[in-house]
Amino acid sequence: MKQKINLLIGFSAVVLIALSAIQYYLVKTAYEYKVEQFRSEIKEKIAKITNDYSDIDSTIFNKKDLLYKQLAENYIRDKKTRFHIKNQLLQNEFKSELTRKLQEEFENEVPDLEIDFAIVLDKFVIYDATKEADTIFAEKPFIENKLYGNLASLDDAFLIRNYVGTTSGSLQQELNSDYKLLTEDTLYVSIQNWETIVLKRMTLILVFAVFSILTLITLFVIALKALIKQKKMSDIKTDFINNITHELKTPLTTLSVSTKILERKDIRDNDENFQNILGTINRQNNRLQNLIDQVMTNSLGYEEIELHKEKVSMPDFLNSIISDFQLAFPNVSIATDFNSEKVNLNLDKFHLTTAIANVLENAVKYGCKNIYVKASLAENQFSISISDDGIGISKSKHPLLFDKFYRVEQGNLHDAKGLGLGLYYVDQIIKAHQGTINVMSDLGKGATFDLRFSI
Ligand code: ADP
Repeated sequence: MKQKINLLIGFSAVVLIALSAIQYYLVKTAYEYKVEQFRSEIKEKIAKITNDYSDIDSTIFNKKDLLYKQLAENYIRDKKTRFHIKNQLLQNEFKSELTRKLQEEFENEVPDLEIDFAIVLDKFVIYDATKEADTIFAEKPFIENKLYGNLASLDDAFLIRNYVGTTSGSLQQELNSDYKLLTEDTLYVSIQNWETIVLKRMTLILVFAVFSILTLITLFVIALKALIKQKKMSDIKTDFINNITHELKTPLTTLSVSTKILERKDIRDNDENFQNILGTINRQNNRLQNLIDQVMTNSLGYEEIELHKEKVSMPDFLNSIISDFQLAFPNVSIATDFNSEKVNLNLDKFHLTTAIANVLENAVKYGCKNIYVKASLAENQFSISISDDGIGISKSKHPLLFDKFYRVEQGNLHDAKGLGLGLYYVDQIIKAHQGTINVMSDLGKGATFDLRFSI
């Protein structure tokens, strides 16, 4: 059974991990989809603004085209200028002016987002009418080729669009040739706090994912706890059945032997022997009756116990229980401390006597020589604490101590007989009186049971 539970726990844990992994994968995919969606929204918005960015300031853009032409023509005239073209393009005089204007445009059109951008130059190709294309440069976009913009790196930026510009010019008078110029540049943007924006859009999915995983874990833990509890209960019940069978066996065997003896005529004729056997039968009969009574009375739940409360005067009531107990166990020394004033409590005398006797008898059963009973009245509570110097109870067993049929595993600790009903009954009786019971003990350190009632 234990192996089965372990297997079940292992299997459930694997399923839980697999489900969490699937959930993680789904959330990650949803996140990537949301990022893509966010980017295409931004692309669409910005593409609209910058559809033809010469609209933003046509004068400057004309000047820029003029610069491109001039550089191309210089190159056609003197090929040596090739290496200066890129520098002159990148350090153009319109740089800051155009950056500012585009920035303003973004701020006006998309006020809710903080946009950084860069337009980088990728290509500058001259087609001389007579010759083949002359590529001045063609590079992958990188930030060093920034024409305008305030972006410092392309790492976190995404591509919005490419702009391909074609211009044609003529150098007919000087060189008798026409040429075409092809330029290509790319717009990159980066949105500040874009992760937060995307995550905000995913709130519902995230909350749902976390909630479902937490619910699953909680259900898993609850189911597991119930299973373990059930297993414990079934173990405890098996122990009880073993105990009660063992307890019943002795009187039954004795009874069967006694009846066999009584069948002998010589025994029946001898009065002394006959009386002896009758005495044994009677004792064993009583023992059986007691066992049945113990199971019947002690296993009642506190809701089922019918109390007959009456005024009980403390500490006289305790004194009478202790003197009866002392008669039954003369070898145990019992000390008391009842320094509280007299107080009348409304209690069921019969049940409470049995409950307190159970605690006292347990003390003897589990190896004590001395018992100390203290009663006190404080803050509207009457408390009875019963301490012994017996074998004690390890702290890990305390939570189960008042469970029905529970007995501390015996091992080599003690061989005291019992059904695991004594403390259960005490707890039920105290509960029926709306009181509380607590145990303070550790292995080898004796035990103290503290019973409290409100007055
Ligand atoms: P039982 O005595 O029939 O086994 P109880 O319900 O009275 O059942 O007690 C439950 C368990 O608590 C016992 O099996 C015993 O191990 C432990 N126990 C109870 N009282 C004491 C005590 N005073 N000292 C040590 N162990 C105790």
